[in-house]
Amino acid sequence: MDKFDIIVIGAGPAGKNIALELEKSGLNIAIIEKDKVGGTCLNEGCIPAKLYLESASYVYKLKHFSNVGVQVENISFDMQQLKTKKDELLNLLRDGASGKLEKSTVELFYGEASFIDKNSIKVGEKTLKADKFIIASGSKHRPHPLLEVDEKQIIWSRDVFELEKLPKSILIVGGGAIGCEFATFFNALGVEVHIAEFTPQLVPAEDGDVAKALQRELTKKGIKITLNANVTSFTKNKSSVNITMQTKTKVEESEYELVLVSIGRAPNTDELNLENAGIQSDRGFITVNEQLQTSTTNIYALGDVITTPALAHTAYNEASVLAKNIINNTHNKPSSIIPFVTFCQPQVASIGKNEKTLKNEGIEYKVVKHFFKSNAKAKIKGDDSGFIKLLCEKNSGIILGGAMIGQDTTELIHEILIAIEKKTSVDELAQMVFAHPTLSESIWDMVR
Ligand SMILES: Cc1cc2nc3c(=O)[nH]c(=O)nc-3n(C[C@H](O)[C@H](O)[C@H](O)COP(=O)(O)OP(=O)(O)OC[C@H]3O[C@@H](n4cnc5c(N)ncnc54)[C@H](O)[C@@H]3O)c2cc1C
Repeated sequence: MDKFDIIVIGAGPAGKNIALELEKSGLNIAIIEKDKVGGTCLNEGCIPAKLYLESASYVYKLKHFSNVGVQVENISFDMQQLKTKKDELLNLLRDGASGKLEKSTVELFYGEASFIDKNSIKVGEKTLKADKFIIASGSKHRPHPLLEVDEKQIIWSRDVFELEKLPKSILIVGGGAIGCEFATFFNALGVEVHIAEFTPQLVPAEDGDVAKALQRELTKKGIKITLNANVTSFTKNKSSVNITMQTKTKVEESEYELVLVSIGRAPNTDELNLENAGIQSDRGFITVNEQLQTSTTNIYALGDVITTPALAHTAYNEASVLAKNIINNTHNKPSSIIPFVTFCQPQVASIGKNEKTLKNEGIEYKVVKHFFKSNAKAKIKGDDSGFIKLLCEKNSGIILGGAMIGQDTTELIHEILIAIEKKTSVDELAQMVFAHPTLSESIWDMVR
């Protein structure tokens, strides 16, 4: 029987990073992966999605080309070529990730892990023992109560990366970050896109003003958006899916070649037999304290399998803080200042406190808003849509939060991240020198 200091379950961003960080301090570590090293992020999430969006972004830019004298004719799009490029990129990055594990002393076991008790785990026929366990088993697609995914006509987001040709039309059920990103991709390539969002707001987790602006911009591009929409029935035909949708005011019936279900993520805990180790969970998410410790004190959990924001960079931060806590016997908490980024077109990003939390916490605040329409670089780049909104403490002017929509806002948001972390006020920002002409100088322009 194999015995380790620590066993990590799952080799996604959370598991792989913490295993490598713990190994550096001389601990005897094993990691168990039931599928592919790199997890959701590398194999079916951030990386392929952003490659697909990058490809679509060139098509958007084409519209600006002729304005600045670049004449491009006979443009076509080859979905098969994009899929080939995606496979090459994922293989390369996966080899890099597996290579790091192979070069280290971390022992990698392939198979599905399930607890026997709080110190032992089963992987296939093997039993492994450890003093401590770290659960980093991540998440999977959240199933729709009605729409049964067949991975052909009704698909998950990961199936998009296997498509060999574009559909004529697609219904995207779920208008969150992932739904809006795929809407952008398909719309850029001429597919008829309809987003059906169950709540009254597109990107429901985002600032209300930003969400409304995004709805306006996507509608301008020809994307149909229905809010308060509930799919009530469907029938599949040979080459289409017939959908009936209840909205606030009417019942709508339409036909689509493809239906994409993207209504969020569900934790990967069903197979872990958590009860054998006495680990508590809530609707599948593992319950942890601020130091990521579960109800069983030698077992920790992090990443998408707990209720912190389901993002790769949350997983990285939690992995780094937890590794240091275990090595140094400290009790630090992961950061709560997390950037939220949606790579649709225009991009959406936010950080820190939003108006709702400030009101709930009774903090007096003021809003500073600046539109990219008055930014030279946005005009040069051919898209001056969107704005930046800063939320500052009323008296001190210290920046507490921010939300933005527009070009490259998934990059710009990091300026606000640093300002919040360093408790910077708008007056202090106004004294700094921002290069011209840049999108970044919008932030200086709005506070000076
Ligand atoms: C389409 C899409 C786009 C996304 N885009 C972004 C983005 O732009 N930016 C961003 O920050 N985040 C993005 N995300 C989210 C990001 O992918 C996740 O937050 C991140 O992968 C979570 O990391 P994790 O290690 O917690 O879990 P995962 O990446 O899910 O890894 C968990 C691993 O555990 C393994 N596992 C599960 N159960 C067991 C078991 N019982 N035994 C052994 N192994 C097991 C799984 O096979 C998997 O490899 C996106 C997600 C999707 C779906």
